[in-house]
Amino acid sequence: MTRSTGRVVPAHPDVRSHLASHRYTGDEIYALVSRLYPMCRSITGAGLRETLRVIQEIIPIEIHEVATGTTVFDWKIPKEWAIRDAYIANKSGARVVDFQQSNLHVVNYSCPVDTTLSLNELEPRLHSLPDAPDWIPYRTSYYNEDWGFCLTQNQRDGMADGDYRVVIESELFDGSLSYGELCIAGTSTDEIILFAHCCHPSLCNDNLSGVAMLTLLAKAISTVRLRHTIRFVFAPATIGSITWLSRNQKTLQNIRAGLVASVLGDAGKFRYKLSGQDDALIDRASTHVLEHRYPDFELLEFSPWGYDERQFCSPGIDLPVGRLTRSPNGEYPEYHTSADDLDLVAPQYLAESFEVYLEVIGCLEANRTFVNTSPQGEPQLGRRGLYGKMGGFQHIEDIKLAMLWMLNQSNGQRSLLDIAQRSKLPWQVLDDAARMLEENQLLREVANGKDGLGQ
Ligand code: ZN
Repeated sequence: MTRSTGRVVPAHPDVRSHLASHRYTGDEIYALVSRLYPMCRSITGAGLRETLRVIQEIIPIEIHEVATGTTVFDWKIPKEWAIRDAYIANKSGARVVDFQQSNLHVVNYSCPVDTTLSLNELEPRLHSLPDAPDWIPYRTSYYNEDWGFCLTQNQRDGMADGDYRVVIESELFDGSLSYGELCIAGTSTDEIILFAHCCHPSLCNDNLSGVAMLTLLAKAISTVRLRHTIRFVFAPATIGSITWLSRNQKTLQNIRAGLVASVLGDAGKFRYKLSGQDDALIDRASTHVLEHRYPDFELLEFSPWGYDERQFCSPGIDLPVGRLTRSPNGEYPEYHTSADDLDLVAPQYLAESFEVYLEVIGCLEANRTFVNTSPQGEPQLGRRGLYGKMGGFQHIEDIKLAMLWMLNQSNGQRSLLDIAQRSKLPWQVLDDAARMLEENQLLREVANGKDGLGQ
């Protein structure tokens, strides 16, 4: 990208240049969602492992396996689940509910069954949605050996009295829990962690939108020069984040910011849920980016409910990890049903989510702290030709104002993000101003300044 500031563009562009020079259609993210959609994922097992293998074709994640029975904080890695087939057949042998039609039909983690039951006996094992008679609900029986079937209300209403053959060809055995991880090194060991749960079967918005978006975000980011180290973790919800945290306790102190990513492919407006720290760097960066790009976004208070932010923000971990979604879990009608499918998510919304994430990272990358080297009165900008160098900027008034804000507020105590929040100017304009002033020796970066990077 060419700017008239005269600054040197690095051989490998930074996140900002990447944002400015690439157009995201979301098609690649949507294609990955579509590819992963049919797999029967769970918190362990072949579907989860295969999902990680597909991600590994795109980005070089390391796949970790943690054995059944391993203690992870207050939990134990559960048995591994395998499923081959499941059905309910009527007297004539016709399948009235068939796992081969949808993997949502069997309660996820069901133990094996092969029996014949009357409809009355079967009733307590059936789950349907009377208010959405065409949708199959998604149910699980983790940590509690049980079984059941999920079906549409219409299917259920069509089942006549009588006996049914009930078969679940599953297996629960000592195996392992899988998760995937990619660490992209920056010049600092200070880390940004991005987490997506990947344990839901054929569900697109909840689960696959976050998985696919983060995969392609990692692919994009791996080509640019980074200050922060950025870590991507793909793991089952709850037990996966608990497992990852328990195995990485020694390096958790490197984490300066994090986001939990899911529900990023629907038409809903953006929601940012504050970390447990309320005013962490990630809270300020995410709200700043959204205020400028999507002013209708909703800011949600922290609560110990939701996705894996519950684990990252548990009191003994207390990491600055927020959650950036579109429609939050449980707050869209298709949530945890078969209607959370490929029609609910669209490339356009996935692309918007991708750009918001990339911009939050760009904002964290640009967030430096400076000291004004000529603080007595305003320095004479015209003499240095700085006013004349603004031709390449779209908003000349903004950049002029941004230079004055950077000069006025840079006392070595306030970061660029502090100044962005106070001035209400977008971080990119302040970053442009800061780079110009830095080139003219009017600003000097403070090492280890507020919000700044450590070693
Ligand atoms: Zn879910």
